[in-house]
Amino acid sequence: MQVVRRGDDGPVVSEIRDKLARLGLLSGGPLQQAGYDDAVEQAVRAFQQARGLRVDGVVGPETYRALDEARWQLGDRSLSYAVNHPYVGDDVAALQQRLLEMGFDPGRCDGRFGPQTAAALREFQRNVGLLTDGILGPTTLGALQRLRRTVTGGSASERREEEQLLRGSSAPAGRRVVLDPGHGGDDLGACAHNLAEADVAYDLATRMEGRLGALGIDTLLTRGPDSAPDDEDRARFANDTGADLLVSLHTDAALSVHPSGVATYYYGATLRDRHVRSVVGERLATLIQRELVARTDLLDCRIHPKAWTLLRLTRMPAVRVDVGYVTSMGDARRLSDPEFRDTVAEAIVAAIQRLFLPADHDIPTGQFRMPALTG
Ligand SMILES: [Zn+2]
Repeated sequence: MQVVRRGDDGPVVSEIRDKLARLGLLSGGPLQQAGYDDAVEQAVRAFQQARGLRVDGVVGPETYRALDEARWQLGDRSLSYAVNHPYVGDDVAALQQRLLEMGFDPGRCDGRFGPQTAAALREFQRNVGLLTDGILGPTTLGALQRLRRTVTGGSASERREEEQLLRGSSAPAGRRVVLDPGHGGDDLGACAHNLAEADVAYDLATRMEGRLGALGIDTLLTRGPDSAPDDEDRARFANDTGADLLVSLHTDAALSVHPSGVATYYYGATLRDRHVRSVVGERLATLIQRELVARTDLLDCRIHPKAWTLLRLTRMPAVRVDVGYVTSMGDARRLSDPEFRDTVAEAIVAAIQRLFLPADHDIPTGQFRMPALTG
């Protein structure tokens, strides 16, 4: 474009006046059709100063582009990663700023919606249990605004309430859960005391499948009894199903017979100097760990953030439970007992139910029973 300066007139000048007026830098409505006068020049200077541009009072390509970008407020339009014509504007910069405040990594806050901003937005969506399409539409915007209030300054308990609120009246029925029995096929996982990890994991998954089905939860398994997809395939499968949650089932093992107990893992990593984690994943891990410790005599090895492939590549909140050590005599004895396996399955299902429950329906840990299944 050619440079527009004091004394000029025409449609471009009208447009510039209009943009300045919208930004509150120029008074006078559209009826006042003056050209590029002193008032416009002053407004352009003020704008250039505020944006860190060269302050010359004339509108060249740089100032024009900045004026154009400045007119977008967060929520004015739906944003996504458009490969050929990336969205650019103050709304994108505001989105990036908010993602950053919440611990996601949108890249530089440059007001350009690039692939990294899209990845950070998907990670946010995944955290709050929304469809991970990387599009900032009304639903995601609402979640972003509600969560932000508490994330910046709110306490941890407020944040938890906020998550519950986001889930609204969500019930377990109609949800979709992917169960991922570890290993399989030729990969037996850890073997000791006549137990193979792959078989224990698959058996636990099938015990959970029936219970989840009874709650109206659509349940899918990442593998059959004899197949062994790799972690990338498992993540892709889960992503393709649009599942709400993924629970991966493993047992642990050690060189020594002494280590024992149960641990649950959720997605968490340190990117540059910032720690990111799946908030809902952490919550589910907490619930699972709590139920398992309350209902069994397994040692509490607590919950831990991990950036393992499966946890990292899945787009929904995902956890992995390592239920006992096959190398521990005590844990192996427990894991060999079908009744114990039922207890484990019931504990994890109760935790999933609990995750979907509104806060005011909370029931003391260890007391969730499904009447239809206890008979
Ligand atoms: Zn394993």
